[in-house]
Amino acid sequence: MTTALGQLTTLEAARAKVLVVPVGSCEQHGPHLLLSTDTVVAEALVAGLGEQIDGLVTSPTIAISASGEHEGFPGTLSIGTEVLAQVLIELVRSARRTVDAVVVVSGHGGNADALSKLATVAGFEGDHVLVHLPRLDGDAHAGRTETSLMLHLAPHLVDLGRAEVGVTTPVGELADALRQGGVASVTPNGVLGDPTGASAEEGARLLEQMRQDLTVAIQHFLEALS
Ligand SMILES: [Zn+2]
Repeated sequence: MTTALGQLTTLEAARAKVLVVPVGSCEQHGPHLLLSTDTVVAEALVAGLGEQIDGLVTSPTIAISASGEHEGFPGTLSIGTEVLAQVLIELVRSARRTVDAVVVVSGHGGNADALSKLATVAGFEGDHVLVHLPRLDGDAHAGRTETSLMLHLAPHLVDLGRAEVGVTTPVGELADALRQGGVASVTPNGVLGDPTGASAEEGARLLEQMRQDLTVAIQHFLEALS
């Protein structure tokens, strides 16, 4: 397990060099997955980094982020791109006093704009910040990919009996409609994809691939700093 900042005293935190910030979301994930799905995935991903990177610690999770596209589905909460970006910018300004670098890992693709704003400001201010959104082939939201991840991570939290196919048009082709009317306008059940065929084994493979990608990204980032 990666060391969590919340489990350290300030004396122990003095050896922290790289702060990893997991960013989740509180948004609908169809009828069968929890609102915290992206949070569970982001936390598992950073926890899986282990002790192999010297001085790496994880911060408490930011569990409400930019989920405006999921508005109207009960339980979805969003602070929007501008505010999320500012939260992350201030977090980096605070962290810079005691750590050398910050890695922000988002389990929610809708945070991409906030992450790129952070990267821009961090660049101007001379901070060492890596922003990371896991890239996975597969469906976009509450479909086979995320259902598999959750069957691996927390099967007791998946209500497979309620799983339904959503809209299966590639998300790229839905971009305009999503921008204008949000997720509710293209898929009434909130699913962008199809959970059919999801399995814990597939989820384990996907998580391992995500963990390897993130580890390599962090290693390259830290090498470039040294
Ligand atoms: Zn998700």
